[in-house]
Amino acid sequence: MKLLCRCVNCGAEISPELRSGSGGAAVVVECLCAVCSHSFVWRSSDLVAGTQVNHIDLVMSAAILFSGSQAAQAIRMFDIMNVPAVTRATFYRHQLKYLHKVYSCYGCIGFS
Ligand SMILES: [Zn+2]
Repeated sequence: MKLLCRCVNCGAEISPELRSGSGGAAVVVECLCAVCSHSFVWRSSDLVAGTQVNHIDLVMSAAILFSGSQAAQAIRMFDIMNVPAVTRATFYRHQLKYLHKVYSCYGCIGFS
């Protein structure tokens, strides 16, 4: 976090803010410089191309689904270990919007 305490444009000291409520494992920090109004967002994970989905969150959802794990149990396990993870809502959204398409694709080529 200390690396984000200086404006990359003018060098002034800033107070970065951790964005919460993303429903996932990625850390997102917003920085706004009060001196020059330069703003930027730092992410611990890239976004999936053409989406607002954090790569690490989609990988986590895929790992839960493709390992055959029960989502609620897997997510509860991460919570007990205090490891940031996708929420159930995020997991189900990823499953519906992206991961079922992967299953469909594998079905077309005979993967089982
Ligand atoms: Zn600045």
